Amino acid sequence: MPHGPREAAGGLLQLSAIVGFRCVRCDTLHTTKEFPKEGEIYNCPSCSGNLQVVYDYDAVKHSLKKGLMKGGPEIGIWRYMPFLPVEENCRRSVLQVGCTPLYRADELAARLGLRSLYVKDDGKNPSCSSKDRASAVVLARAAGIGSDTICCASTGNAASSLACLAAPLGLRTVIFVPKKAPQAKLVQLLVYGATVFAVEGDYDDAFDLVVEVSKEFGWYNRNTGYNPFTREGKKTAAFEICEQLAVQEGEKTPFAVPDAVFVPAGDGNLISGVFKGFCDLFETGLISRLPRLMGCQAQGSDSITKAFRTDDVVRPSAGRTVADSIAVRLPRDGDAAVAALSGSGGDSIAVSDDAILKAVVGLARCTGVFAEPAGAVTLACLKEAIKRGEVGKTDSVVLLASGNGLKDVDAAKKAVGKPAIIEPTLDAVKRHLRR
Ligand SMILES: [Zn+2]
Repeated sequence: MPHGPREAAGGLLQLSAIVGFRCVRCDTLHTTKEFPKEGEIYNCPSCSGNLQVVYDYDAVKHSLKKGLMKGGPEIGIWRYMPFLPVEENCRRSVLQVGCTPLYRADELAARLGLRSLYVKDDGKNPSCSSKDRASAVVLARAAGIGSDTICCASTGNAASSLACLAAPLGLRTVIFVPKKAPQAKLVQLLVYGATVFAVEGDYDDAFDLVVEVSKEFGWYNRNTGYNPFTREGKKTAAFEICEQLAVQEGEKTPFAVPDAVFVPAGDGNLISGVFKGFCDLFETGLISRLPRLMGCQAQGSDSITKAFRTDDVVRPSAGRTVADSIAVRLPRDGDAAVAALSGSGGDSIAVSDDAILKAVVGLARCTGVFAEPAGAVTLACLKEAIKRGEVGKTDSVVLLASGNGLKDVDAAKKAVGKPAIIEPTLDAVKRHLRR
C-alpha cells in the first residue's frame, strides 16, 4: 500500500539510487548524508546555486534489469521508476502524467524541407502542460516527507499543474501568480481549490515572495528552478521521446535519438530537465549519443540565449513577451540550461512575438496541435535554425509543444481573423463564399 504523509513523516524517502546533489554553479557534490532527515534542502549550502540530483547509475542499471517498463495501468511517468527520485510505493497522484503523443508531422516537414519532424504534444497532460511532469514528482516527494501544504510561484502553468495533481491527494496548495496571468490559468487554479494570491508584480516578484513565505510557514516549495526535483520530473519527456521515436522510425532498439530537440526556455528548467533525461539514458547505456538541444525563447525574454552566446553568465532581460509561460526576467534555472545547451552541442534562439503568434497558427494548421505561444515558439525557432543552416534536410527533429493553446486564447486571437457573421440563410452563405 502507498505510504500516507503521516506514516512517512520524520523519515527521509528511501532514495536508493541517489548518491547526492551536485551544485550546478560550484560543482560541489553534497552527499545525501549531509542533508537533514526532515524537510528539504533546495540550494547548495556552499554557494546557494541550484542542485542537480546525482544517481548511482550502477544501481539504476541493476533496477533496470528487473524491468524498466512497467506494464498494466502504469502508462505515465512512473514507468521510469528506476530513474526517479522516489520510492516505488510512494504516495502519488492517480492522474496520468506523461506518455503524451509524439506525432509525426509530415505535412509540416514537407513545407520546411525536412526528412523527419515530430511534435511532442505535452498539452495532453492532465492540466494541459509539461509542468505536470515536475509537479507529479515534487508532490510524491512532498508527501513522502510528510508535507501537507505545497506552495509555488508560477506564470500560471506550474501552479495549475500543482493544484490539479494535488487535488486527488488531498494536499493543500498555496499559489502566487502575477496579477496579469491569463484568465484560463487563474480559473484552473480556483477550480482545483488552490489558495490563490494574485501578486501585484511579475513572476519574478512572486517567485521571491514564495521563497520567503515557504521559509516562514514551513511549506514545501515547488518553485521551478529552485526545487531540484522539478528537473527530475521534466526529464521523463526525454525518455518518452526516445522510446516513441524508436517505434515511429521502426528501430530495432527500444530507444532512438533524434538529431535535434527544440525546447521552450523561460526559467530554463525544461531544457535542463530534458537534458538530464537524455544523460540518464546515455549513462545507463540505453542510448549511444545525445541530441542537440535548441533553446527557444522570445526576444523580450532572452536571458539564456544572450548568456549562451556570450559569457555563459545569465543576466536579467525585460521579461516581456506574448508567450506568458516563458516570460521571465531572470531564469531561475539559467545556469543549468546554459550548461545543457553546451553539453549537448546545441544552441539558443530568440524570435519575435510576431513570429511566435504566426507559429501558433502554422503549427495548428499543419499538425492539428494547438499549442500556447510558449509551445509554438519551438516552430518559430526551428524556422530560424533552418535559415541559419543549423538544421539540415536529413536531420530528425522533435518540437516539444509544452502547453495547450486553450490556456491562452487571448494570445491566439491576435493571430487569427474573426468568423464571418451571416444571416441563417443559404443565400448568405453563397454571398459570403463568393467574396
Ligand atoms: Zn555551490
